[in-house]
Amino acid sequence: MTTAEAIAVEALSRSFGEIDALDGVSFSIPRGIVFGFLGPNGAGKTTMIRVLLGLLEPTRGTARVLGCDVPRQAQHVRERTGALLEHAGLYERLNARQNLEFFGRIWKLPSSERAHRIRELLERMTLWDRCHETVGNWSRGMKQKLAVARALLHQPELVFLDEPTAGLDPVAAAELRTDLAGLSRGDGVTVFLTTHNLAEAEKLCDLVGVIAGGKLRALGTPNELRSQERGKELTVRGRNFASDLVTKLQSRSEVVQVKANALELKLKLEADADVAPIIREIVTSGADVEEVVRGKGSLEEFFIELMEESQ
Ligand code: ATP
Repeated sequence: MTTAEAIAVEALSRSFGEIDALDGVSFSIPRGIVFGFLGPNGAGKTTMIRVLLGLLEPTRGTARVLGCDVPRQAQHVRERTGALLEHAGLYERLNARQNLEFFGRIWKLPSSERAHRIRELLERMTLWDRCHETVGNWSRGMKQKLAVARALLHQPELVFLDEPTAGLDPVAAAELRTDLAGLSRGDGVTVFLTTHNLAEAEKLCDLVGVIAGGKLRALGTPNELRSQERGKELTVRGRNFASDLVTKLQSRSEVVQVKANALELKLKLEADADVAPIIREIVTSGADVEEVVRGKGSLEEFFIELMEESQ
C-alpha cells in the first residue's frame, strides 16, 4: 500500500517500569525527506526507532510505517526499511564486498542483482577502490559508510540511521551527509536520522523533531524552528567594553540576557525591543563599536533554549 506518509505516530507511549521513555508522541513524516530526530541523551530517540521497527511494542498509541501497522506488520516493515543502529554490525575479518555479499544473501537478492547493487553502493560511498581490503583495517569513517551501504542494500524505501556521523572527522562526516542528501533527493528514500550535531541537522534535514523526556517539544523545518520569535539576538563586536556595562545592560527591561568577552557582547532581547537605545548606551559607556549583527538564531540556540524551558 502506498501512502503519502512514511511514518505516522499517534499518542505513542512506551514505558520501562517507572520510566516513560516515550510519552504521548504524535507526528507524521512525508515520504522522500530527511527527518532529523533530535534530543538530549535519554530523550527517547532510540526507543522511538525500535518501536517503529517493531522491535519494541508500544505501551499505548499507534504507529504506522510505510502504511503498515507496527508491531502487527513488523516483518513487512522490516523488509522495506533499512537500519543502522548502535553497532555497525560488520564482519571485521571479511572485506567490504564479502560483507555486502553476506547481507545480500540474507536479503535473498538474486546473484546478478546482488553484484550490481554492491558495486553501485560501494562506488557511491567511494569505497569501491578498497573493497578487497579486510574491513577490520579500515578507518572508522570507512566502516561507517559501509554500514550505511549495508542498510541500503535491499533498496529500502525508508532508512533509520542512529547517529550515523558520530565519531567521524569533519571531512568524512560531510561526505556521508552528501551521500545521505543524495539518497533522499536522488532516489526518493526517506531518511530518519538521530544526531547530536545540530549544525548537521540544520544543513541536512528537511524536517526536524525535538524530543525531551519522552515528549515531542518541537516539530518544523530548521528554518521555522530557528526563526521562531523567542526574542532577538544581537552581537556587538568591538573593544573597550567597560567592566560595569554588562550589569547596566542587564538592568534594562528589554534585555533578557547578556554574555560578554573582551571582543564581543551577545545580547538576547525581548521580541519588541528597540535596538537603537541599547547601542547608544554601549557607545556612551566608552566602547569602540566596530560591528553590530542582528542574528536569526541558530538551530543550536533554539535547541538549548527549548531544553532550558522544558526542564
Ligand atoms: P541517547 O542520545 O543517549 O542515545 P536516546 O534519546 O536514544 O538517548 P533512549 O535510549 O530511547 O534515549 O532511552 C530513553 C529512556 O528509556 C532512558 O531513560 C533509558 O534509560 C530508558 N530505556 C531505554 N531502553 C530501556 C530498556 N530496555 N530498559 C529500561 N529502560 C530503558
